[in-house]
Amino acid sequence: MRLAKIRRISTVEQMLARIEENSIVNSSGCKIWMGARSDCGYAVARFKGKLIALHRFVCEQAYGPLKGRNANHHCDVPYCLESTHIYPGTQTQNIKDWWLRKRRADWQNRKEEQKQLLSELLDDAW
Ligand SMILES: [Zn+2]
Repeated sequence: MRLAKIRRISTVEQMLARIEENSIVNSSGCKIWMGARSDCGYAVARFKGKLIALHRFVCEQAYGPLKGRNANHHCDVPYCLESTHIYPGTQTQNIKDWWLRKRRADWQNRKEEQKQLLSELLDDAW
């Protein structure tokens, strides 16, 4: 019996190929990592024998070394590995972006609420 070959990933090309093989793109365009995830939900894999966060790896491949910056997600999906959904930024920027998105979402919800209220009022009027 032959032991299953464990593929050791040691080049960027191998890692990128691995990401392609182990991800599926969902309807939002997110590249969902089907492999291991960290406690925080980030995609992780072994690279040169070390466990790395794949969104940071993808970010560095797309935009250059992070140099202490974070790899942030536009889409808020921590295990998304679509390079256009990831951008290098500071923690502050991350929080600011999150806050802006949240505010937009709140505004949407309020609009829905008002629409609902209006339709109820109209129902009553009839
Ligand atoms: Zn995404």
